[in-house]
Parts: sequence; C-alpha cells; structure tokens
Amino acid sequence: MDTRELVCIICPIGCRMTVVKDDYVSLGYKVTGNTCNRGEAYAVKEMTNPTRVIPTTVKIKNAQLNRLPVKTNAPVPKGLIFECMNIINKVEVEAPVRLGDIIIENILGTGIDVVATKTMEKI
Ligand code: SF4
Repeated sequence: MDTRELVCIICPIGCRMTVVKDDYVSLGYKVTGNTCNRGEAYAVKEMTNPTRVIPTTVKIKNAQLNRLPVKTNAPVPKGLIFECMNIINKVEVEAPVRLGDIIIENILGTGIDVVATKTMEKI
C-alpha cells in the first residue's frame, strides 16, 4: 500500500498527516491528520506532483553586495530543481536591478521566471 507520513508546510501549525493511496476517493488519496482542506490539497500534490519555489541568489556586479536575492515566481517541479540551480548558478547580472525584474525568463521551458526579490542600486 502506498502510504506516507507528511508534515504540512502550508502554515506554522505543521499538522502531521498520513496519506494513503485509495482509488475509492475522488482525489486518489485518503488524507488524515490535516486540520483544514489546504493540508489535504498539499498532501495530494506532494504525492502526485511535488513542487517548490526556489529562493536563492545570483552574482551581481557594480552593487553594494555581490549576491542578488532571487526566487522563482511559481513553484517548480521538485525533479527540476537541480537543473534550475545549474542555470541560476551561471547567471551574473549588473546593477541596477529592481525588485520583481525578471532575471531568467521561462527557466527550462516551464513558463516560470526567476525574479529579483530585492532592489540593488548601481554604486
Ligand atoms: S493542514 Fe491546515 S492547519 Fe494544518 S498545517 Fe496545513 S494549512 Fe495549517
């Protein structure tokens, strides 16, 4: 039987959930231990298509700091995170950069952009 124990990461309560494959329920998984429906949705997604937002940094020239904080503007499938990081790690931008500027467009053809999460002025 396909069963997993998960901690919900949607809110700080951190409900401990058990997810069991069950073809007789509409979502295909029976979830227990969740306090709200968001936990159930998270658990089913973790079993079928787990994703994560990638928060990281890229190199930046001519700014006060030498790393610019960035993140993906949507969750990326977990299986693509290392490939995304290989691309992100090769990027170097030049100040000025504005909060929300697209640093990498459509990474790996996912339709997801990597965006700046901080404004950095030119020095
Ligand atoms: S199941 Fe609901 S209450 Fe529990 S951690 Fe997830 S979001 Fe929070």
